[in-house]
Amino acid sequence: MNAPIVTRFAPSPNGPLHLGHAYAAIVAHDRAMQAGGRFLLRIEDIDGARSRAELADEFRADLAWLGLSFEEVPAQSTRIASYREAANNLRAMGLLYPCRCTRAEVAAAATLHGPDGPIYPGTCLRNPPLSAADPVWRLDVEQAAELAGPLTWFDERRGPQSARPQVLGDVVIWRRDAPASYHLAATVDDAEDGVTVVTRGVDLFAATHVHRLLQVLLGLPEPRWHHHPLLIGPDGRKLAKRRGAPSLADRRRAGEDGRALAEALRAASIDTAPFAMGRFDAGISLSDSLNLSA
Ligand code: GLU
Repeated sequence: MNAPIVTRFAPSPNGPLHLGHAYAAIVAHDRAMQAGGRFLLRIEDIDGARSRAELADEFRADLAWLGLSFEEVPAQSTRIASYREAANNLRAMGLLYPCRCTRAEVAAAATLHGPDGPIYPGTCLRNPPLSAADPVWRLDVEQAAELAGPLTWFDERRGPQSARPQVLGDVVIWRRDAPASYHLAATVDDAEDGVTVVTRGVDLFAATHVHRLLQVLLGLPEPRWHHHPLLIGPDGRKLAKRRGAPSLADRRRAGEDGRALAEALRAASIDTAPFAMGRFDAGISLSDSLNLSA
């Protein structure tokens, strides 16, 4: 018998959810339910400075309003010990190095740009900082990739992939403030939670190359991935709260029917074919009836 499908929706409580999040949650929920599996909610509150505890309750209410039942797993803020252990393992393997460059310094020194911005030019790898007080720890991705050897992974919409973990450069693994990076925390959590299909937006496609490498280095199981298209607002850009996408909580409080909204999102989705080749990066433009702008 095949292992049961386990998916998760993993919002960060640093702002209210909008339609793009609703769509991400529906994709994850339906992927699991259609296979008789489990759908998890994980609150990604690793960034204590930006996280607002009260939003987690809003997220739970939003999912219930959309008609999505879920099992909740522990929030990231309760799992720091696991992240620390994983980071220590990578460090013991000699794959992390301290870096004291500021964002501005990285931006000024970078000659390459990746999908998430400037690629770290390796300044502190070549010239270790004299004072290592309070550094961030970066992955020496070349060395790590060499150790791991050639890697593949599988995306349910795009098919088999050769991992290119260098695509984001020497990513940060451990920070001063957060403390684990998104890459480390999400990789450790998905393994701990037994997630078998990682569903998320195509904007995180590049990150998966890095996550696959981290899984192999840390001896974690390999899930499949399902990178879904993004919802596009009336301005032709990805929906975002800062560009005025109305929140689910506002719509809920205004008395809108959440289940009907979820149905409309399903109907609008082109995300039906398992291999939507060619249309992979196309976003989903929604009709005005979904009232995208505030
Ligand atoms: N916490 C991330 C976000 O809100 C989710 C990333 C993921 O699904 O891996 O964008």
